[in-house]
Amino acid sequence: MSRSWSTTTPSKDIGTTGTPAKGCAAPYLENSHSMDCVFCHLIRDDSARWIARDQSTCAFAPRMPIAPGHTLVIPTAHITDIFDAEPSVLAASMVLVRRVADGMRSALGAQGVNILNASGPGSEQSVPHLHFHVIPRWGNDNFTTWPAGRSQHQIDDDPVRLSAMGTAPPVDGGSAHRRAQE
Ligand SMILES: [Zn+2]
Repeated sequence: MSRSWSTTTPSKDIGTTGTPAKGCAAPYLENSHSMDCVFCHLIRDDSARWIARDQSTCAFAPRMPIAPGHTLVIPTAHITDIFDAEPSVLAASMVLVRRVADGMRSALGAQGVNILNASGPGSEQSVPHLHFHVIPRWGNDNFTTWPAGRSQHQIDDDPVRLSAMGTAPPVDGGSAHRRAQE
């Protein structure tokens, strides 16, 4: 396996609290990282505080958590957003989201979790590397992650009908949908 990054200079951009968690530091190296991406920097430099890592996904603590235990789950390879992600990547990411959520319940005593993702330039996505926020919740946390308002965007048609028309058939990687469009 070839190593494609150095471990000398930790990223100063985002999300690190210093020394990687013991036992979570073994990097899985791929050549699919973006040189400009802060999350890819974390992986290349092994400079995040890792909560879990496997071949295709990792979970780490953000620099500025909005709740105790707030965690980000990302694919190891640079994938911009859900529109860029193969079903296998999405599945692996959700499996790790579930593991993190289980840990929040068992280790932090969380009574639930919120899972947040932003994908695409109109979505307030802050880092263009697919990521899922997993936010532990407690009944007494005096906190909400739900939007306070409603979208002001207007569509001059039935958005439910249009969404149904535009939604690809599930499973098989969308190939049936692609065939249908050919
Ligand atoms: Zn990246």
